[in-house]
Amino acid sequence: MPFDSLNLSPAVGDDQSMVQINQQQVTELIGAAELQALDAKHGAKVAVASRGGIANECDGVVTTTPGLALLVLAADCVPIVLADPAHGVIAVAHCGWRGLTAGIVHATVTVMREQGAVNIQAITGPAICAKCYPVQIDCIDQLRDALPQSHFADVAVSTDDQWRVDVRAGVHLQLADLDVTFSSIQRCTYEDPSLFSYRRDGRTGRHGMIVVQ
Ligand SMILES: [Zn+2]
Repeated sequence: MPFDSLNLSPAVGDDQSMVQINQQQVTELIGAAELQALDAKHGAKVAVASRGGIANECDGVVTTTPGLALLVLAADCVPIVLADPAHGVIAVAHCGWRGLTAGIVHATVTVMREQGAVNIQAITGPAICAKCYPVQIDCIDQLRDALPQSHFADVAVSTDDQWRVDVRAGVHLQLADLDVTFSSIQRCTYEDPSLFSYRRDGRTGRHGMIVVQ
């Protein structure tokens, strides 16, 4: 079944009432008052949220509101949670290869700092690995144009005459450049049947990462 189980996205064709129940379940589970879910547009727009809802047209959302949980959804792209607990600023972001070129990581960290963050820590969630992510040459051309050469060499990998993209490596390089410390959940969505993978299944759900203070 494409939406087994706990699909958290209302935008992929699942029963809306089920998605609402799933989102309510995770909100209660973590003891949050409200939930702000992040839509994914593969751009670099970041919203500042103070109550529940859906951050339309954004790939990053930041809050300083206690009890407001932030949810990022993905199914191959890299979900990122960020926090400066001492200064009460948290965020989530969503980054695929387009997000690497658009600069969503930089944009999210910038808005967090505008909101008072100083020492930001991040966790990157499960994502498709380079081995499982062959791409067309136009993707590689865009990455070459957008990324510094030192990043490009680690993000665009050529094996057996096939280009592949390591999005997670790109996110980590960008976080490091911004002086954000990070750890990573090193699971491949394509290889792990317990995770949703758009590349593997096409019509499928979205898993998520959630943060609240
Ligand atoms: Zn893989």
